[in-house]
Formats: sequence, structure tokens, C-alpha cells
Amino acid sequence: MEIIIAKGAGFCFGVKRAIDITFKLAQEEGKGIYTYGPLIHNPQVVEELRQKHVFTTENLELPDIKTLIIRTHGVSPRVYSKIEEEGYNLVDTTCPFVKKAQNFAKILTEEGYQVIIIGDRDHPEVRGLLGFAGDDALVVNNAQHLPPLKKKVGIIVQTTQSSETFRKIVLEVASRAREVKIYNTICDSTSQRARETEALAAKVDLIIIVGGKNSSNTNQLVKLSRTVCAKVYHIETADELETEWFTGVQKAGVTGGASTPQWIIDDVVEKMKEISVGR
Ligand code: SF4
Repeated sequence: MEIIIAKGAGFCFGVKRAIDITFKLAQEEGKGIYTYGPLIHNPQVVEELRQKHVFTTENLELPDIKTLIIRTHGVSPRVYSKIEEEGYNLVDTTCPFVKKAQNFAKILTEEGYQVIIIGDRDHPEVRGLLGFAGDDALVVNNAQHLPPLKKKVGIIVQTTQSSETFRKIVLEVASRAREVKIYNTICDSTSQRARETEALAAKVDLIIIVGGKNSSNTNQLVKLSRTVCAKVYHIETADELETEWFTGVQKAGVTGGASTPQWIIDDVVEKMKEISVGR
């Protein structure tokens, strides 16, 4: 069986930066380090950090917090104020692409636009973005479920959303509002990974997508791959691979989400090689 690994599989620039900063801090400070929510959407990495005494919390009144790390997804101005009030040492690893989207939300609000955030309401990045948008801001992830809009509407999009969802919602909003200002804030890494995954999925018999089940960008890759490949499997670790999946498979692809560490992808590839030899 031929195994093709996507070139861009694994950590994106923003996640790599956040991970490097956090592991360095864990080594230097040792105690009292917390991340505001899980640092990345990958349970294996979060567990590794816990073993290095870097814990996760959203309770900003814990007595033993000394250093608080803001993850790549960013937070709302309200959370920044609370951290300042509590006097914690703040380490901000918000991805610059997310900062840019936050800034556009703020500008649109100041210019009097009703802000529409295309994204998943419960995603931490979207919760943070909402804090920069006005009280009339909306979160939308389906063109068919648009509520009534104001005359002036400004659009931003969660950095890891699919271009297809963005395109459909923009078209629908444009047909309803009188004035529309659009910022496409999908990050380059997300767009490139999606293009690469779609091309790979189209030329293999089976594709394995490695990444957290709670990772938005990994789930987008799964969805996209299913449009062009009949056998698509989403796993978090090599242990989940099943030999039967590979029956009759000549060519298999592997890729990973933006928050999937290289060592997990390597493990998966190794196990696939073992399965191939044992057939
Ligand atoms: S996926 Fe994009 S926006 Fe999110 S952390 Fe990575 S580079 Fe930044």
C-alpha cells in the first residue's frame, strides 16, 4: 500500500508558537501556570502539559494562578479586564490572524455596522470575537437560518471556517442587506490545508484525518474529504486504526489538523505501514 502524507499536515504557525511559548514557560516557572481553556483542541497535548504542571481553567479567581496563558483563539475584552483586575502575569498567545479578525469586529462596530460572525457559536474564538462586536452582533453558520438584518451589515468569519460556508452566507446576506462590508478572515493556513487535503483525498482510496474530535479545522477537513473520497476516517491516535479499513486499499492518504502534533501523525503512519506489511 502506498501511503501519501500531506505536506502541510500538523501544527500551523499560530499553534506552534503557542506551544513553544507554553512549554518554555513550564520549564522556566514550574508552578502556577494556567491556560484559559485547553491550550489547543488536542487532548493528548493538553495531557502532556498537565504532566508538566500547566493546568486549564476558565475560573479566573483560583488562588494559585500566577501566570495565565491566553490561547490562540483569543478572548473578549471582558476577560482581559478581569485578568488585569486579578493582577496575573498575562501571556497572550492569541494568533495574529485572530487579532486581525477581532480588530475588524471592533472597527465595524465603531462604524455603525451590525456585525455578523460566520462561525460556530460555542467555539472559543467566536466567543472572543463577540466581545469585540456590538450588542446587535449575530453568529451564523448556515445561510438558511439568517434572522432579520439591519440595513448596514459587516461580515467577519471564524479563521477556521470553510470557504464554502463563507461564500454561501455572504451571498445570502448581500441579497438582503442594503450595505455590506466584508472581511474574509479565514486564515491562509486553513485555506491552504483545505485545498491540499481535498486534492489528496481525491487521488487516494482512503484518507486518515488525524486530530482532536473537538477541533473545528480537523472536522472541516473530514467534511471536505467526504465530498471527494468514499473512505474517510477521523482518528485522534494510532490506536484507533482498524486493519479492516485497509482491505483492497492501494493508495492511502494521511493528514492532520492545525493542532495535531507531528509525533501523533508519525505514529499513525508507522501503524499504517505495519498494517500494510501484515496484509
Ligand atoms: S489555524 Fe490559522 S488562525 Fe488558527 S492558530 Fe493556526 S494560523 Fe492562527
